[in-house]
Amino acid sequence: MNVSDSERVATDLASQGYQITSDAASADIVLINTCSVREKAEQKLFTQVGRIRQRFGDEPVIGVMGCVAQLEGDTLFKSAPSIDFVIGTKAVGRVDEAISNVIKQRTGILPNARDAARHADPMFESHRSSKFAKYIDVGEREIDYDWSVAEEQRSSKFVAFVPIIEGCNKFCTYCIVPFSRGRERSLPAAEIVRQVLTLMREGVREVHLIGQNVNSYRPTTEAGLEGFKGSTPFSRLLRAVAATGIERIKFTTSFPRDFKPDIVEAIEENDNLCNWVHLPVQSGSDRVLKAMRRLHTIDSYKKRIDRIKSSSKDIALTTDIIVGFPGETEADFRKTVELVEYSGYDSAYIFKYSPRPGTPAFEMGDTVSEEEKTSRFIELERVQRDVQRRRLQRYLGRTVSVLAERESSKSTDDISGHSTCHKVVNFRGSRDMIGSIRNVRITEVKSNSLYGEVC
Ligand code: SF4
Repeated sequence: MNVSDSERVATDLASQGYQITSDAASADIVLINTCSVREKAEQKLFTQVGRIRQRFGDEPVIGVMGCVAQLEGDTLFKSAPSIDFVIGTKAVGRVDEAISNVIKQRTGILPNARDAARHADPMFESHRSSKFAKYIDVGEREIDYDWSVAEEQRSSKFVAFVPIIEGCNKFCTYCIVPFSRGRERSLPAAEIVRQVLTLMREGVREVHLIGQNVNSYRPTTEAGLEGFKGSTPFSRLLRAVAATGIERIKFTTSFPRDFKPDIVEAIEENDNLCNWVHLPVQSGSDRVLKAMRRLHTIDSYKKRIDRIKSSSKDIALTTDIIVGFPGETEADFRKTVELVEYSGYDSAYIFKYSPRPGTPAFEMGDTVSEEEKTSRFIELERVQRDVQRRRLQRYLGRTVSVLAERESSKSTDDISGHSTCHKVVNFRGSRDMIGSIRNVRITEVKSNSLYGEVC
């Protein structure tokens, strides 16, 4: 979601005449996009801001966007006085206004007449403790916000992210996202389909429908879904996007409670719906799941993965797991180990629990010692590695369809891409293959990737 936000901000700024550079040394304005899902996000931000000021002095304007900006708001100015502006997660369409206001305060010159009208904006705040005045906007998204991304601002020419839902209503007790991204809001299907058709014309071959919970998709209008079957708006959307004819469609992340069998049916019916599902279980213990407020039980989760695993399309299953949640006992942890062995994940992101101030779990204390969390983490990683090794062996000798995305970082003789089942696949090839979809026969299975040869 953050990469997607950055792409849209770059699109907007470029359309206003700014030149986008990834080289901080040559930048007049540095934008830092922050994520607060992992630990110590604020600390990392302050270190980054300090480094920029140390290397480049007072000159560059520094703006902070993303979840830390939304959650911390103007307290960031107190913690790091050299930050010039703060843009919340829904205000990303107004970064140009923030820049204009900061430049005006620094130089006394309003960049254009439109900015003159905004000069009396109440969002403008003067923090006398710092050298320059500050600007903050953590307001709501514009009704006519433009979700499209210009071709030159996409991080890949051939793969594009398409947000279909933003925010989250689930309030898992450990998670800050409902506070940093707000409540769920689904984009109209007609707008999503229009974006996918535009991306196809621009040469994109794979789209990722993204959102905190894609399968909780509930637009306020039927526009774009008419005539598509499905028991939920999400499965109807999958069919509508598949009907565009784009070659590959992936989606992430799915919320287990809302994962209906109909999603698997849509994947089976449409060749361009890829055979990969990411379904974060978080724990193998019902007691812990209840404390996490995940709204699924292990029994209901197993029913869903049994349906996924029985699919004729050999769907790759991946997950997220937290170890050491407050109150997690050794017996709870054993259930997680059992679940990992049962589920046969192709890969799993395993995290040690870390408390997030402002979440209900923070009030539960951090009851599992760091030592215990580490030992559970290491054991679960080992179990998953074994499971993964066994699971990935099934690809040996098989032919998979790979979108060639870039030269491999390890060898210029190799090309790297992703299969429809979202595995990294490297194969012998040349740069002119980049952007094409190739059938690759797998000759070697590595711990986190596959190697093969073009058939
Ligand atoms: S479903 Fe839970 S973990 Fe996922 S974003 Fe929402 S609150 Fe966070």
